[in-house]
Amino acid sequence: MDGRADAVVLFGVTGDLAAKKLIPALYELTRRGRLDMPVIGVARSAWDHEQLVRTVRKAVTEAVDVVDEDAFGALASRLTMISGSYGSPATYAQVSAALGPARRPLFYLAIPPAVFPDVVGGLTGSGLAARGRVIVEKPFGHDLASATALAVTLRGAFDPERIFRIDHYLGKEAVEGITAVRFGNRLLEPVWSREHIDNVQITLAEEFGTQGRAGFYDRSGAVRDVLQNHVLQVAALLAMEPGGKAEELHVLRRMRPLTPAATVFGQYAGYADEPGVAPVSTTETFVASTLRIDTRRWAGVPFHLRAGKHLGATATEVVVTLRPATSALPGAAPNLLRLRLGRGDGLGLTINVKEPGGTVAARPVPLDVDFGSVLGPRREAYERLIDDALDGRQDRFASEETILEEWRIVAPVLDGSVLPRPYERGSWGPETAGTRPTGGWHPLS
Ligand code: NDP
Repeated sequence: MDGRADAVVLFGVTGDLAAKKLIPALYELTRRGRLDMPVIGVARSAWDHEQLVRTVRKAVTEAVDVVDEDAFGALASRLTMISGSYGSPATYAQVSAALGPARRPLFYLAIPPAVFPDVVGGLTGSGLAARGRVIVEKPFGHDLASATALAVTLRGAFDPERIFRIDHYLGKEAVEGITAVRFGNRLLEPVWSREHIDNVQITLAEEFGTQGRAGFYDRSGAVRDVLQNHVLQVAALLAMEPGGKAEELHVLRRMRPLTPAATVFGQYAGYADEPGVAPVSTTETFVASTLRIDTRRWAGVPFHLRAGKHLGATATEVVVTLRPATSALPGAAPNLLRLRLGRGDGLGLTINVKEPGGTVAARPVPLDVDFGSVLGPRREAYERLIDDALDGRQDRFASEETILEEWRIVAPVLDGSVLPRPYERGSWGPETAGTRPTGGWHPLS
């Protein structure tokens, strides 16, 4: 890659993602001295410069406790707003003019996927694509066929090393740290296999619902929204051999496609009444499934996956259940290793100690470390990832091959054969014997 980017062009600057994540990340990069370049917002809405600055102010105020006025002023002074249609060459001419002498712009497509081809076409037609890099947001397609078509569109416009596919889970310190914990500890490294591990449970749960975006969600569902990308990425990091991206792809290739028989869909009470949802929607707001991985390390070990909305907690947590000890005392429970990957990230281990008193029995007790307390504040995923893309670093981005593998794995449960069952809000999904882990899901920490 030919050096750090020298401008950011944010398509969809008026949108939800820009306000929630991208503008706060750009502000934080400015504050750290990592973003000394023009930032150009593009949208169809007829916003002027003042409106953009006001929106940026609001987004930053909502994201941080105290606004650093110097940093905010610096960011505001570099902002330009361009309003126009994505299908019109005039929009790209304006972008080109606003870029001025910038030679390595980073284009961020924070727009609905249906508009990607228009924008990629506009960037290509104007010659901007040839000197730029592009960040693309999930969903990377709707299924294997559309993901392949998107890959062809992107490759037709940008060199592969200039395409950055964001799965923001890969930018989370705790997710990236899975391999550091696995491979960096003699206590864990030798037991991380079918010899010692009984099953792995991965939960990505949200207490909240569609947050006003039911129309969007209804065309997606829990599998496309989080299982195909975030949950499978976490599974790959848990299951891969040491060795980086090639090993991550290798283990994804050894994951069997999910089967309808081992999959349960749910839909929370009242979902169908939300604005934007089809009256007889069969979209799943909950999914639970069992993943099988055909490697020597994991043959026979089930990876139980579940994800959904309006569940009992907001948490992303992995629970690894070890096999029982050979000479366990009465009262002992299998060791559990917990990796908390979301807010309040950390690590827990359940370990057996002697029950006090005259009887010879064990009692499982928890050890727990909260990463925030011991490691201090860490950078937000979006901030880290945008910084990486500015530098042209691909390691924390999803590759085209990875994404296509993930679509292959989920394809059999996306053909309409699995229908959702109702569940109460605040529960853990529909009651479904047979598809739960043997012994049930462990309660989350
Ligand atoms: P929004 O629905 O908020 O749309 C972003 C902007 O795109 C809007 O402000 C609108 O701007 C423009 N837009 C909307 N519909 C159209 C259309 N039909 N044609 C052209 N422009 C349109 O999206 P988000 O900000 O939520 O998401 C942006 C991208 O990021 C999407 O690909 C989404 O899947 C992805 N994403 C979003 C997340 C989130 O939390 N929001 C999380 C992860 C990924 P205007 O009308 O002014 O042009």
